[in-house]
Amino acid sequence: MLIRATINCPWNRCRFCSMYKGKKFQLRPVEDIKQDIKVARVIQDKIKELSWRSGYGGQVREVAGMVLKNPSNQAMHNVALWLYAGGENAFLQDANSLIMRTNELAEVIRFLSETFPTIKRITSYARSKTAAKKRVEELIELRQAGLSRLHIGLESGYDPLLQYMDKGVTAAEHIKGGRNVVESGISLSEYVLLGLGGKGMWREHAIQTARVLNEIDPDFIRIRTLSISSRIPLHAEVENGNFIRMTDEEILEEEKLLIEHLECHSNYVSDHIANLLQEVEGELPQDKGKMLACIDRFQSLPPEERANFRVGRRVGVYANLDDLDNLHKRQAVEQIIHKLSHDSSQIDEKVIHGLMEGFI
Ligand code: SF4
Repeated sequence: MLIRATINCPWNRCRFCSMYKGKKFQLRPVEDIKQDIKVARVIQDKIKELSWRSGYGGQVREVAGMVLKNPSNQAMHNVALWLYAGGENAFLQDANSLIMRTNELAEVIRFLSETFPTIKRITSYARSKTAAKKRVEELIELRQAGLSRLHIGLESGYDPLLQYMDKGVTAAEHIKGGRNVVESGISLSEYVLLGLGGKGMWREHAIQTARVLNEIDPDFIRIRTLSISSRIPLHAEVENGNFIRMTDEEILEEEKLLIEHLECHSNYVSDHIANLLQEVEGELPQDKGKMLACIDRFQSLPPEERANFRVGRRVGVYANLDDLDNLHKRQAVEQIIHKLSHDSSQIDEKVIHGLMEGFI
């Protein structure tokens, strides 16, 4: 269930992000947020009632599925979809709910838990800077109210890169914010953006990001790969030559360096379609060798195999390296390469970037 605790992003300046550009940030009155939660509860009760009336004995999943086929409005659609998916997780939007006053955010979280006692996990996004400003006691108050996990966009731990990207936070603040969350007992996911250093800063980006993550020791490290659509400010930097994009293969070298320098106890997760090797995942430190071996496996493929895999991933045909052995999928990718390369079998880097952006 998505509850909009705040609207848009209070920072909104990161060069690689287009999510809320041109939209003004707003705090919402607690009573308005509670009203949304109450409406969601009324809808859930209606679906439950319908379940009893239709002979499903109060089981909501089947009835939610039927409601989804023809919902009367967007709110009905959202609640039905949530119930259909199990009705156990809630997410407080938008980009940084932690910016709310602690007592007000705690009140919202408590109200959400009381209104939906079946909810098992409440999560939200936060900025490191905001988490660094909160006292650990305040974060403990939020955990006790029911906040289970915070997702923070670390992106990089390298100060010149954070500055260039206008992330509005330093490596030291990343560490302070992350440590505050860890100490409070709230589960922490830190997001890393591969490719963000470009050709100019990739080494420092990988090494300093690992250093900052080692200091934080988050529960999860979540990997994302930079994609540059024309909507993001960084696009202009690419056009004027100030930022030089890395190729997929260079980004893998960067990821390798990052993993080699990680000395934390986090769950490394690669749960995004834009990552070339989504199978590079595992528990640190014990799975480090396995994760690096996966990158080595790709790197030791012949060049034409690597090119085939890259295109296959970027058009959504391949999920992992084993798919290269699937004849059906392989033929489909070869046909696409043939078409895209105008019969030359050579694919331009820009074409692959275009596929990636188009696919996302
Ligand atoms: S803080 Fe997050 S949502 Fe806001 S501009 Fe930066 S990346 Fe985008």
